[in-house]
Amino acid sequence: RRRRRRRDAEDERKRKAAAVIEEVEQKFATPTALLRGIADAMVEEMERGLRADPHAPLKMVISYVDNLPTGDEHGLFYALDLGGTNFRVIRVQLGGREKRVVKQQYQEVSIPPHLMVGTSTELFDFIAAELEKFVRTEGEDFHLPEGRQRELGFTFSFPVNQTSISSGTLIKWTKGFSINGTGQAFYLVPKKIYVSVGEDVVAELSRAMERQGLDMKVTALVNDTVGTLAGGRYGDNDVVAAVILGTGTNAAYVEHANVIPKWNGLLPKSGDMIYEKMISGMYLGEIVRRILLKLAHDASLFGDVVPPKLEQLFALRTPDVSAMHHDTSHDLKHLGAKLKDILGIPDTSLEARYITLHVCDLVAERGARLAAAGIYGILKKLGKDKVPSDDFKTHRTVVAIDGGLYEHYKKFSACLEATIADLLGEEAASSVVVKLANDGSGIGAALLAASHSQYAEAE
Ligand code: BGC
Ligand code: MG
Repeated sequence: RRRRRRRDAEDERKRKAAAVIEEVEQKFATPTALLRGIADAMVEEMERGLRADPHAPLKMVISYVDNLPTGDEHGLFYALDLGGTNFRVIRVQLGGREKRVVKQQYQEVSIPPHLMVGTSTELFDFIAAELEKFVRTEGEDFHLPEGRQRELGFTFSFPVNQTSISSGTLIKWTKGFSINGTGQAFYLVPKKIYVSVGEDVVAELSRAMERQGLDMKVTALVNDTVGTLAGGRYGDNDVVAAVILGTGTNAAYVEHANVIPKWNGLLPKSGDMIYEKMISGMYLGEIVRRILLKLAHDASLFGDVVPPKLEQLFALRTPDVSAMHHDTSHDLKHLGAKLKDILGIPDTSLEARYITLHVCDLVAERGARLAAAGIYGILKKLGKDKVPSDDFKTHRTVVAIDGGLYEHYKKFSACLEATIADLLGEEAASSVVVKLANDGSGIGAALLAASHSQYAEAE
């Protein structure tokens, strides 16, 4: 009888787990018809954002970049790429149309934890000091013409209200800052300290460089999407849009000046926060954790006790989810090891592992399909979702994508690409290329510093 009771309890657990999974499947479903609806809504909201409707959920931020790199850029330029808990300094010697990038060097610096809770001044001083050190290692391959000031493109991967090509104020913090108010999400905290909302980020950086005795001028302030667009276009003339799928999500494309009431130029649009949260690397791991927690609570997925670590906000990161999701061993031993190492759950049943795998799949697939709908929306907005019959053979549309999520989470990127192709249909899909623009944002900023150089007129 005891055995029967145990079997009944086991059946009950399975039933409950199935019910939770079914609920998640329903909530996370992204049928193609829904994606088409999202793409259309995206086009509509982009247009609304362009009309500068104050209630538009999609902010269309003007970049003030009025020309993309052509290939003729010449000279030595620096870039600073700041968007997370580390930053990169870059220098590039551009050799014009024939020689292109003659030489390029970069250095990645992680921001020391004590500065992550300090003031913006301290942080900018640290960055400027690192930049100053980097400049001192310039070496023979780089040449600055006599009497010229060094110039820098600044990639700042947060929404900024640009006031010119080289000035702008932070609109709000993203990639976690909004939930920082709860005081629980530890690794989100650093994002808020760089500058306070409303301050001119270039002025802050310039003052810090001055304090370091570094004579350098910021000639371009760009979002990472705009940098990626510039870097992408430099390498491929057919690049029409750039997308970041990393810690955060965003896109930039070239818009006709006459449809922007406020001004003319290019613009990045920064996506709705909820949309970003369903897609980006910052959140996918957290979504998986929450579902696993529900399964642990409601269906004792990991035994009678809910693993304490599983209750901890952001305990599961997206790279861990990716690693679990890519486990192809028949007994999912790598996935099991992750559950043990990261969440402190020893000895998971095979069933629990398969359910976890399925959860990873649901979350990643929803994110990838929603991202695909957004990209499809941008292609629609650009009128690139259909192949014009006359230039069918030569027509090519390239979307440059950068970001760790797209680069490293292969099941995510594969699903994204398949969904874009599916939405476009066979004919249009054959002319659309989605490609990795690795580190495009840094070099893109240097290129924009070049094309917006204070000396550019003289050339
Ligand atoms: C920021 C954008 C940025 C994107 C990708 C978002 O959270 O708001 O400005 O382009 O992340 O890094
Ligand atoms: Mg980046």
